[in-house]
Amino acid sequence: MEFSVLTLPGDGIGIEVTREAIRVLQHICQKFGHKANLSEALLGGIAIHKTGSPFPAETEALCQQADATLMGAVGLPEFDNWPPEKRPERGLLGIRKTLGVYANLRPVRSYASLLDSSPLKNHLVDGVDMIIVRELTGGIYYGTPRGITEEGSGHRGTNTMTYTTEEIARVTRMSFELARNRRKKVTSVDKSNVLETSQLWRRVVVEVAKEYPDVELNHLLVDNCAMQLVLNPKQFDVVVMENMFGDILSDEGAVLAGSIGMLPSASIGTRKPNGYWVGLYEPVHGSAPDIAGQNKANPLGAIGSVAAMLEYSFGMKEEAAAVNKAMEAVLDSGRVTADLRPKGQPATTEQVGQAVCEAIG
Ligand code: NAD
Repeated sequence: MEFSVLTLPGDGIGIEVTREAIRVLQHICQKFGHKANLSEALLGGIAIHKTGSPFPAETEALCQQADATLMGAVGLPEFDNWPPEKRPERGLLGIRKTLGVYANLRPVRSYASLLDSSPLKNHLVDGVDMIIVRELTGGIYYGTPRGITEEGSGHRGTNTMTYTTEEIARVTRMSFELARNRRKKVTSVDKSNVLETSQLWRRVVVEVAKEYPDVELNHLLVDNCAMQLVLNPKQFDVVVMENMFGDILSDEGAVLAGSIGMLPSASIGTRKPNGYWVGLYEPVHGSAPDIAGQNKANPLGAIGSVAAMLEYSFGMKEEAAAVNKAMEAVLDSGRVTADLRPKGQPATTEQVGQAVCEAIG
């Protein structure tokens, strides 16, 4: 198979972890006989330095052409006091909007060698393997009216939570498709005992579920879900929810795995004419200015994002599994970066990337 990938290393450790992710991608392509046509563009602080914009027009055009986009991280301390619309992080919103990625997928799984890094007891975390699907382009973060208005001697703040049938249906369908290739269970999270948007959400989810009679559906209220994630996280396979609930619960899910450096993410949009899903893949972490340029960053979140790209944008399940298995072998071997607190000398970012390639074979 031949495909194109645009890389956007961005700022800080984004550059270091993306380099290792690409090393692994090229290794996989060599082993399985694929050809990845790679190109690179500017995003974030580095793009402001070189072009004046966090999301230059050239980057926008290139990401629309590529079959998939792999991002590092954006953000530089020198821009911390700039207005939001001029900061590097604005590049992130720009690319998500351009690509129309409406579902954010966060795989959360436990690794035997990292059980002690989790804040939960080992027996609760061992065997956790779920995907949290967050609706990414609707809900209260985008709804209008919004704003702060004067009222009497004070003010009133307003935000609006709003969803259409189509917005709910497409992210629900994606969740059922994912579940079909996993343990065939979807949990839909809402607050339908209070919110009308949640009542519509539940109604649409129930309707879409009829297209997938082989997949089990259950519903949880968001407050109960927050509790179940720490009481019994192993019960979950695919968990789908609206934007703000997903923003909050995906971070709760994230801590189950141990270090933030471990976590991949995938943001998925529509299918392209050539059959590939539009996808933006990135580790969950930021640019980590405190360790940038020191070859210390954990690249496994970025490498896991390559595995997600292979699986979701190119349907390469075997290749994705090979990357995930190699990451597990490297974790077991103890050749890991300092954030995972290895017993001996910590490995460098580069050594971990090389170790994953060696483990792939
Ligand atoms: P951060 O994720 O960059 O760092 C938080 C802590 O985790 C730091 O101590 C860092 O050293 C550590 N860490 C993060 N990734 C690591 C890795 N791969 N290996 C080892 N340790 C790692 O979050 P922050 O410090 O709040 O933000 C720094 C900058 O990144 C800010 O400008 C912020 O806006 C930006 N940011 C960008 C993204 C993104 O690009 N998607 C996400 C979050 C934050």
